[in-house]
Amino acid sequence: LTGGLAGTEADALVDHHCHTVTNAELDRDGFERYLTEAHAVAAGTSRFDSLLGAGVLRWCAPLLDLEPHVGPDDYIARRRELGPSEVNRRFLSACRTTDLLVDCGFQPADPLDTASLETASGARVHHVLRLETLAEEVSAGCPPEDFPEAFRSSLLELAPDAIALKSIVAYRGGFGFDPRPPTDADVVEAARAWTKQCEVQQRRRLDDPVILRFVLWSAAGLGHRLQLHAGLGDPDLRLHRADPSLSSDFFEAIEHTGTTVLLLHCWPYHRQAAFLSAVYPHVYLDLGLALNFVGPRARDVLAETMELAPFAKLLYSSDAFGLAELHYLGALRFTMALEGVVAKWVTDGELAPAYGASVKALVGAGNARRVYGLDETGEVRHG
Ligand SMILES: [Zn+2]
Repeated sequence: LTGGLAGTEADALVDHHCHTVTNAELDRDGFERYLTEAHAVAAGTSRFDSLLGAGVLRWCAPLLDLEPHVGPDDYIARRRELGPSEVNRRFLSACRTTDLLVDCGFQPADPLDTASLETASGARVHHVLRLETLAEEVSAGCPPEDFPEAFRSSLLELAPDAIALKSIVAYRGGFGFDPRPPTDADVVEAARAWTKQCEVQQRRRLDDPVILRFVLWSAAGLGHRLQLHAGLGDPDLRLHRADPSLSSDFFEAIEHTGTTVLLLHCWPYHRQAAFLSAVYPHVYLDLGLALNFVGPRARDVLAETMELAPFAKLLYSSDAFGLAELHYLGALRFTMALEGVVAKWVTDGELAPAYGASVKALVGAGNARRVYGLDETGEVRHG
């Protein structure tokens, strides 16, 4: 018995934040690069020697017709024998996901396009729009004086086709930013200085604090769904500034706009994020990325999050990037953790069995369907 999602009574899932997978043929080194957030690892060590790497060899090997705990070289050899299309199809179709909300702002090599991702997964794909990327594109095409109006009109044009907007302000300056909206005059002045800086640095990377606030406030003005990276990520991040509770004043200030805030990943600030979701009606959270990395500790991290997060405020995401294995493992870790946590509460008499089942259905899919306006057939309700 190999276990895995096929062996559970899992409900369907909505993955409300993920990325596409690569269709490239990967050798061991190419595969391992997707097993870490690090830009490099210590010489002579393997990325497989981690809970994430061990999790792949334990839980993903059976889907390639291998025994659990196969060695990395045998795993990669079998993967190459099957080829990328078959590997992607096997893992993506095993996720039991009805909808994938895909952030295309960050792409793996040779990315699977939307139609192929839908075919391989059997899920509907919806697109998430990256705010900082849009600001970088708009600013490259207009003088600083025109930037505020040009950005607002681009956003107004593109936002209706996006299921959510996403910001990586946690990476670009952190959550402790001034919570007030800047004036257009402030933004123009900042855009002038930023344009000069871009010319000197020969790249256009938005890290100006005034423009970042402007972008967030412009998004908030639309009353859309706003995904915010929080907690762990790659080394571009300064982790202590990725604590979302540093932005409590901002969340409070935008409550009246009708914006829904979705905090992504959150670990190790999942307890702070759970608190925010408990006290603000418009704040939600997930544990995407984190559950894959903490592996067998996923149940504990989920239980810590659910100490305070109302059942209607927690969503599922894999934040999988590049490897179809990470989509599958994300779904598996989440499902096993949720089943474990809820089963314990049912056994202890804390939850009635039927209520426990409805909590699992809410967290796995129901909350996302409600928040994103997805009905059972995958249509998006507008307005
Ligand atoms: Zn992501």
